[in-house]
Amino acid sequence: MRVLLLGGTGEARALAAVLVARGVDVTSSLAGRVTNPALPVGAVRIGGFGGPAGLAAYLRAEGVTHLVDATHPFAAGITANAVTAASGAAVPLTLLRRPGWTGRDGDDWTRAPSVAAAAELVAASPPGAVLLTTGRRDLAAFADDDLHHYVARMVDPPTGPTPPRFTPVLDRGPYDLRGELALMRGHGVGLLVTKDSGGALTVAKLDAARALGLPVIVVDRPPLPAGVVACATVDEALAQLLG
Ligand code: NAP
Repeated sequence: MRVLLLGGTGEARALAAVLVARGVDVTSSLAGRVTNPALPVGAVRIGGFGGPAGLAAYLRAEGVTHLVDATHPFAAGITANAVTAASGAAVPLTLLRRPGWTGRDGDDWTRAPSVAAAAELVAASPPGAVLLTTGRRDLAAFADDDLHHYVARMVDPPTGPTPPRFTPVLDRGPYDLRGELALMRGHGVGLLVTKDSGGALTVAKLDAARALGLPVIVVDRPPLPAGVVACATVDEALAQLLG
């Protein structure tokens, strides 16, 4: 058994740890987006494959017997590539996708179908400070808005266009409720914008928004490729892989 694990998430690191502990030959793959990534245990390779054909060629060349896509729910490009490459190389694919967040009593959420749609909703909202947690590559969608002050949290500094009124907060999860409350209160945040990433590591911002009575714009996930069924947990993915 030789596993290629497409990662970049906490679940991918957890799965790599379990596989390594069981003596499975696993290589984790990272895109190389952040300068100092959280590394999984075991072998790691970094960088793109060159599209689905490149990934299929890698699977064949390395004798990979099982492909796992445990990438972020918004990393739709690599997931589409994984589906195509697995089929092309006749390698079984396990897709691990943590469930999205669901609203609770006291939440004031508006769903947006895309980051661009979220930016339009913000532009139409009353002036004030907006906490943006969608990541540095989505900042450009908000760059024309000079009505709001954006407090944008991200791992690395932005390299592209940013809104005129803009405070970067360089940080990486996990985050806790106390820290999120302090961040929101400290910047006088009146609106939160987040992707529906799901998972426990970054959910505290939603708890903080609820506690402070703040509205939240939640960007919907891109759909999974047609016909693909996802495992929701590391245990499910492990059972599918080893079962
Ligand atoms: P993406 O748009 O779906 O993928 C774009 C290209 O990046 C892919 O075609 C592939 O290049 C390369 N790539 C992506 N993930 C890779 C991986 N794990 N290993 C090797 N190459 C990879 O991906 P993205 O949204 O930029 O996400 C990149 C990475 O960051 C993923 O590992 C993801 O799990 C992680 N991440 C993403 C987000 C997010 O909000 N999108 C948040 C947290 C973490 P080639 O075509 O050249 O193979």
